[in-house]
Amino acid sequence: MLNFTVGPVMSSDEVIEVANHSTPYFRTPEFSQIMLENEKMILDMLHAPEKSRCVFLTTSGTGAMESCVMNILSDKDRVIVINGGSFGHRFVELCEVHGRNFTEVKCEFGRQLRKEQLEGLEDHTALLINMHETSSGVLYDMDLVSDFCKKNNIMLIVDAISAFIADELDMEKMGAAAVLTGSQKALAVQPGISLIALSPAALERVEENKEVCMYLSMKQALKNGERGQTPFTPAVTTLLQIHKRLELIVNNGGIAAERKRIASVAKTFRDGISDLPFEFVSESPSNTVTSLHPTGVSAKEIIRILKDEYHIWVCPNGGELADTVFRVGHIGNITDENNQELLDALHDMSKRGLL
Ligand SMILES: *Cc1c(COP(=O)(O)O)cnc(C)c1O
Repeated sequence: MLNFTVGPVMSSDEVIEVANHSTPYFRTPEFSQIMLENEKMILDMLHAPEKSRCVFLTTSGTGAMESCVMNILSDKDRVIVINGGSFGHRFVELCEVHGRNFTEVKCEFGRQLRKEQLEGLEDHTALLINMHETSSGVLYDMDLVSDFCKKNNIMLIVDAISAFIADELDMEKMGAAAVLTGSQKALAVQPGISLIALSPAALERVEENKEVCMYLSMKQALKNGERGQTPFTPAVTTLLQIHKRLELIVNNGGIAAERKRIASVAKTFRDGISDLPFEFVSESPSNTVTSLHPTGVSAKEIIRILKDEYHIWVCPNGGELADTVFRVGHIGNITDENNQELLDALHDMSKRGLL
């Protein structure tokens, strides 16, 4: 199967090989060394400010989102939540579950955040945003958000789960207090690990705040992380795969080169479907995914035929959009040939009158 979803995605052979062994024991200096290198490579790639730290949690990306809401924010905060789709909605739900005082800023599906929507919210203390709202494919205007937060001294927490590597992200320049991501998106390894880069400002918050959880505690993760360890048994193999993948990125021209490769896969795909009956859903697409509205037939049916007859996975949308929107991912180990196979399959479907 060719996998053009947004995660889990296809891994490179070198990364797959890492998992082809029994899981090694991890309370060892050798594993600690790997973890310290993982932390350093991630902070370098994000261009995190000096004295930042990165914690690794054995959870899917949502665990990192929840950990931020629990450990960085507190009862005293007034939080802005940008909600333009299902991942924005997830931050809303997390704030509700944890009793945060928040204001929801709703963006229409597929539409960019506008400056006017932030007017009147200058007195808030923190802002939660999914840099790329993966459900709609909108890459938010992070310069707008960053300027607003800097000007009003608002702590910016960025879910970059599907933007990291694929889109440009400079944590220091953005002034983000925390940036989080997960293993199964553009990192392109097995699911199981989420990670959070924390600036000195966020670290201070974590230190001050009362500990309200154990498994997702940043305090515990930070303390153990000082010696390259985790408080509890982590997804060891996924962490080893992350190490391999980060090394490969570093050795192949760095994160900018990898971003360029992903951007090129996305552009080739978008150019290649201009003659097909699809409308682009997002007015500001990221490099990670293309959200499409088929004008002739059901999105569900396209997804099913691609899977059953062409052995290609693309991504469905949930809820009300299941019939009207599907998404094609551009992250993971997608070659030019793979991309062409997908384009050929869609054109063949068109010829067969199935689009
Ligand atoms: C994938 C994703 C998540 C996390 O999803 P999990 O299934 O918990 O890994 C969160 N936010 C965004 C923007 C995502 O793309």
